[in-house]
Amino acid sequence: MYALYVNWGEWRKYYGITEKGKYHYGDSQEDLALALKKYAESNQYSINEVRDIKCDKCGWDTFKLFSDDDESGAMCRCVHCSEKKFIRDSEEYMNQDETDYHECMCGNANLSISVGLSFYEGTKDARWIYVGGYCATCGVVGNYIDWNER
Ligand SMILES: [Zn+2]
Ligand SMILES: [Zn+2]
Repeated sequence: MYALYVNWGEWRKYYGITEKGKYHYGDSQEDLALALKKYAESNQYSINEVRDIKCDKCGWDTFKLFSDDDESGAMCRCVHCSEKKFIRDSEEYMNQDETDYHECMCGNANLSISVGLSFYEGTKDARWIYVGGYCATCGVVGNYIDWNER
């Protein structure tokens, strides 16, 4: 009975995303927020706030996503105007020659990006950053890179 109750709670909490194999699927960027929160629960730093990324220059909402997994950092490049946007202070840390370029497992590389922030208790100071993508082509939502804020 107890297990059933827990499963139902989990299902309700993440209603909107479906799991197929190792991938999660959603219908919108809102479902990406759910997927990030779910992912964060497997880490010890749960997410307090999720922000959807828009281009500072043209307002567009799909990006190519680059990350440096060794130095920890992420950069988005606007699909519409090519403006670069670094996530948080990533520009200081990323080795720009060694960034990994991400694409969805379906081959689409134009992703909607959301950033999940885990705050120190009782503050708005981020201690852990999650960067996730939503693929409008196939619906895959997930975390691409996360790091301990410096
Ligand atoms: Zn733009
Ligand atoms: Zn896809």
